Amino acid sequence: MSRGDYVLGCLMCGYRIRGQPLVYSLCPRCGGALGIELADHVFKVNHELPGLWRYSTLLPPIYSKYSLGEGMTPINSFDGVLIKNERFNPTGSYTDRASAVIVSYVKDLGIHGIRSKYVKDFTKSFMHYSLNAGLKADVVVDDITSVELDDITYFAQKGISLLRNVEGSSLCVGYVNPLTIEGLKTIVFELHEKGLKAETVVVPAETGLLALSLLKGLRDLRECGLDVNYEITAATIKGLNVPLLSGVKGVRVVEVPEDEVYYAFKRLIDRGLRTKPLSALSFYVAQNIGNSVAVITMGYRSLSTNKSVIKKLILDALAKRGPMTAYEIWRSRQTYTLRAVYKAVKSMEARGEICFDIKSKGRRKVKLYRLCS
Ligand SMILES: [Zn+2]
Repeated sequence: MSRGDYVLGCLMCGYRIRGQPLVYSLCPRCGGALGIELADHVFKVNHELPGLWRYSTLLPPIYSKYSLGEGMTPINSFDGVLIKNERFNPTGSYTDRASAVIVSYVKDLGIHGIRSKYVKDFTKSFMHYSLNAGLKADVVVDDITSVELDDITYFAQKGISLLRNVEGSSLCVGYVNPLTIEGLKTIVFELHEKGLKAETVVVPAETGLLALSLLKGLRDLRECGLDVNYEITAATIKGLNVPLLSGVKGVRVVEVPEDEVYYAFKRLIDRGLRTKPLSALSFYVAQNIGNSVAVITMGYRSLSTNKSVIKKLILDALAKRGPMTAYEIWRSRQTYTLRAVYKAVKSMEARGEICFDIKSKGRRKVKLYRLCS
């Protein structure tokens, strides 16, 4: 599909436009975010397709369905609040959903080199996806001191160039674009697929793009004739302008004074939970509203959770403690999520990097993993 085939609709004023390049469009009339108008509205989950592509019938018709396994993040209850924990995405950020769609689109265009204007969280995720997809990717920054430490460390380790301006021949991808919305909206699809019973979905809002994306997801589901009635609430800091949400119907904005944001953050930190201040705020807004699910990143995860580190831990554990089940391996060193450990064990088993024996444990048969030699 060529870029001109898409019809875009402004999510703020409703203005319709076609033929815009998808990766950096804003409404020419009001500056609002543009959403892709889908030709068909059918909600059908395809379990064969990877990551968020399971929802292909409600995504743009992109041929390259590139995925690193984003999405299907767990919903847990903490302190009476349901949390859709986006930390379980490949780079630990909900923006992985956007990266999967954008990188797939770029692959469809047949482009090999791209740049991304730096936006915290998003750009690291986008670089991670781009590099894994074999694209050459650089980052454009206005000011090197504005780059988060985790992010710049990642760029340096991966040999990514930091460019000073957006001039250049390669395609420059920003965070706010119609494809990001398509990726992020899948959060609502997952809530719907799981049959989540909650009245309100609370998200942190800085630009407001996440809230807008969920709104678009909701509209797409309703276009399918589905009765999905979540209220979208965007939690933000009082005085912080959320440009993309001004005048948007269907998203309730809750503004909280800065000292309360810090209080909310501190309460989670005191309980050993790491999250960003805005996520902590969303959590508390969800708690106050009741009957809500907060879409946030909570816990701790960094990109050093890479496969080789987990693999080494697994080999060390087996060397020290002898044969164990995957669950016991995880129990021995709970540095990583159970899911991450299971995934690593499976992949090592497939590659013959670890061996196993089947043993009977009561009536059950279990796989005991061990070193091969
Ligand atoms: Zn507009």
